[in-house]
Amino acid sequence: MSNPDLSKLCIHTITTKPWSLEEAIDKYTQAGVKGISVWEDAIKPMGPAKAGEMLSSSGLSVVSYVRGGFFPNLHQSERNKAIDHNKKLLDEAAAIGAPALVLVCGAEPGQSLETSRAQIQSGIETLIPHAEANGVKLSIEPLHPMYADTRSAVNTLQSANDMAEAIHSPWVGIAVDVYHVWWEPGLEAEIKRCGENGNLFAFHICDWKVPTNDFLLDRGLMGEGCIPVKQIRGWVESAGFDGFNEVEIFSNHYWGMDQNSFLTQIIEAYHTHS
Ligand code: ZN
Repeated sequence: MSNPDLSKLCIHTITTKPWSLEEAIDKYTQAGVKGISVWEDAIKPMGPAKAGEMLSSSGLSVVSYVRGGFFPNLHQSERNKAIDHNKKLLDEAAAIGAPALVLVCGAEPGQSLETSRAQIQSGIETLIPHAEANGVKLSIEPLHPMYADTRSAVNTLQSANDMAEAIHSPWVGIAVDVYHVWWEPGLEAEIKRCGENGNLFAFHICDWKVPTNDFLLDRGLMGEGCIPVKQIRGWVESAGFDGFNEVEIFSNHYWGMDQNSFLTQIIEAYHTHS
């Protein structure tokens, strides 16, 4: 492998879940990775303040804190709890130096998707002052429609664009994840629209394995499945995005292998297929 350009490579801590935050920081840094997106679980053992110190002295760019959201609920009291929890996550994001909090928006199967979407929009709008006070942006991540039952009522980039444009705040934008939107008709145009409106905050990469054995925990490395990652990255960059390419892979298969070898594979796949 000839001197790969890793200047835009970010890895989500969940991708190398068996590693502690400390190990992830050490291994990513040694491998030349420049960015890290930090999952809530990764900072549990030491708390946000200590995690923030570790991250700021590491030299890695903290790209996102993952993940908030889950706004819809049948009961107002539960929706209020979700707001409070998201405020806490925004505080933690600020403490670890993350400029954005990724939102898995949520869905409530006991009500219509339209009602869930209205609750999501309202929840995000309620959080804006707290996001601004912390200097942390909110990234709506549209999820593949197979998750429309309980994980997200925002299932296309088109629908995420509609919501971000309706909210119309510099603190609210979108995380585009190839796993969730690769199939979407008109994706190129929606990515362009997202960029033109200033809403393209983040770009997540992995692949869709054929066949996929588990619809949560069997994501593939770039190049291993059917997602045209390079092409989508080209669209994202043409839309004006110059941020990190975030490798986010949940995979029992990869978590089960030696994480040093897996990291080498991630870097090779990033170099060759994205
Ligand atoms: Zn993602």
